[in-house]
Amino acid sequence: DMQYKGRKILVLGLAKSGEAAARLLYRLGAFVTVNDSKPYEENDQAQKLEQLGIKVICGHHPLELLDEGFEMVVKNPGIPYSNPIVSEAINKGITVVTEIELASAISPAEIVAITGSNGKTTTTTLIYEMLKNSLRTPLLAGNIGTVACEVAEHATEQNVIVLEVSSFQLLGTKSFKPKVSVFLNLFDAHLDYHGTKDEYLHAKARITVNQTSEDYLVFNADDEAVSKVAHSSKAKLIPFSTKRDLKSGLYVKNGWIYVDDESLVKIDSIVLPGEHNLENILAAIGAALTMGAKREQIEHVLKTFTGVEHRLQFVKEYQGRRFYNDSKATNILASQKALESFSQPTILLAGGLDRGNEFGELAPSLVHVKVLVTFGETKDKLAKVAEQAGIETILFAEQMEEAVRLAYKHSLSGDIILLSPACASWDQYKTFEERGKRFVEAVQRLTVKL
Ligand code: ADP
Repeated sequence: DMQYKGRKILVLGLAKSGEAAARLLYRLGAFVTVNDSKPYEENDQAQKLEQLGIKVICGHHPLELLDEGFEMVVKNPGIPYSNPIVSEAINKGITVVTEIELASAISPAEIVAITGSNGKTTTTTLIYEMLKNSLRTPLLAGNIGTVACEVAEHATEQNVIVLEVSSFQLLGTKSFKPKVSVFLNLFDAHLDYHGTKDEYLHAKARITVNQTSEDYLVFNADDEAVSKVAHSSKAKLIPFSTKRDLKSGLYVKNGWIYVDDESLVKIDSIVLPGEHNLENILAAIGAALTMGAKREQIEHVLKTFTGVEHRLQFVKEYQGRRFYNDSKATNILASQKALESFSQPTILLAGGLDRGNEFGELAPSLVHVKVLVTFGETKDKLAKVAEQAGIETILFAEQMEEAVRLAYKHSLSGDIILLSPACASWDQYKTFEERGKRFVEAVQRLTVKL
């Protein structure tokens, strides 16, 4: 790949993806400078890159850096466009991209890209699993896998890259052109970064803007905003719906999943719970079939896949109670979906970082909740909503251990005990993964001790 040879490129923000981009560009013969906000002395990544011969500038983002004649900036998706060095680069006419743009530019393998507000990781994992044992070997990239540009560098035409992409990553694309794009849904999440819903939609639409009639767009026909984007796409459209029969595409009829006019799998053979997961499954089947997945493999995945860690993941059954870890539910909508997945009496564990939400929208989803155990910054707000919804038992906990113990104490055989916090974890935990782990550990301890 000669397109980056000899070019002057600034990598802005390290983390995992910035480091991968810097290393890749360096190997491709670009003149790379790295600029990261973390001070040099504590910046192991920058020090290592410097040893390679990459120029590093750490601790701040000096605007003068942009006078050095860069042709391109590769920006970490977490750095907002309002950051002065980013807006100044754009003013100067420098191309600003994210690393997925590099990935698509250098990849010899076709790309399946998955986006949406919720369900990306689950759908990405499903597609990856469904493509196993097909003609080409799937590679997992993005959030759950390896950084996209690193995967692309080592891929061949015998691979298919299955790539989860966020709106932050999509904003920084110019020629990004997946063979198959999957657009799941669009909710009002992330509005603090993107400003308005229109801007957010615009970012997401970039998943299909460069697609042509040789490419495919799998999209949620039940979502109005998503359908709007789809109908202005040049790609071949593969709609899916859980709500109505479609003339073509994927839908549900008489307890079966249909593809066009053919039945494919029986719904009650699927282990993954939840209506929302059915959407993810339809989307995944649409993409996987397009890329040559075998029917037996698809059936096998649906019969065995119990969910991605922390996403409505089944933890264990103990004394007739079923424990689920949905720590990834960091917003109201995600928790609504989780709650709607069960018709049994439910003990809900929720609470976390306060983003100014009042949680009123959660009330209708609390119909099967008989006990709320709440914690974190939002506990009083959640308690209020639960009280208004008529939930009689509302309990407060400081730590996860205590929350799990209280939940068990107030449960009966046949109940669901569900961690689905509806909030980010940063008030008490480093990450939602850590929160989910604490929950699983507490469940293990409780069920061993008792
Ligand atoms: P993402 O990677 O987009 O954050 P995940 O697959 O990790 O999505 O799922 C995160 C949470 O979002 C899940 O725990 C679930 O509660 C909710 N969710 C998953 N799929 C959907 C969907 N299709 N529609 C609405 N909510 C969903």
